[in-house]
Amino acid sequence: MVKGARSYNAALERLYRYVREQEKRPSKVRNMVLAQVCQLAQPFTAEQLSKACEQDRISVGTVYNALNLFIDAGIVRAITRQRGKAATEYELITGSASRFLMICKKCGRTVELSDKAIARLIKERKYSNFNIQHFSLFVYGECKICRRKAISIQMRSRSSIE
Ligand SMILES: [Zn+2]
Repeated sequence: MVKGARSYNAALERLYRYVREQEKRPSKVRNMVLAQVCQLAQPFTAEQLSKACEQDRISVGTVYNALNLFIDAGIVRAITRQRGKAATEYELITGSASRFLMICKKCGRTVELSDKAIARLIKERKYSNFNIQHFSLFVYGECKICRRKAISIQMRSRSSIE
């Protein structure tokens, strides 16, 4: 099986459904961009995607339009990791569209959590003018490894004073 083939079929199905709902025209080129999204290592930048699409002679503008449509369709999500990182990263949504991520502000390490209590809380929440379909929750902080490093630096500087 081609790498990413299974996720491609699922993503393509989601794309077809979205295109039908939005009464947009299906596009072969858009499907080719989606195939590239599924082949790329995740997460990826828009630049990496347009580079991958170069071999199919797909223009950068077309790639960006397709990427925005994939986001609207819930196929791809934009993720923000580290501050000061030049490009936004994107990733293919597989499985449940809802996500709970803990992101270390120091090293960018990302841990995906499954917290059923929080997921239930959000899903069961009713808003009069909004219908929740899925959610992304990003929690920023300091990971265990960075925390440990910070503590050992503190201890080292303390012992050098003494
Ligand atoms: Zn860290």
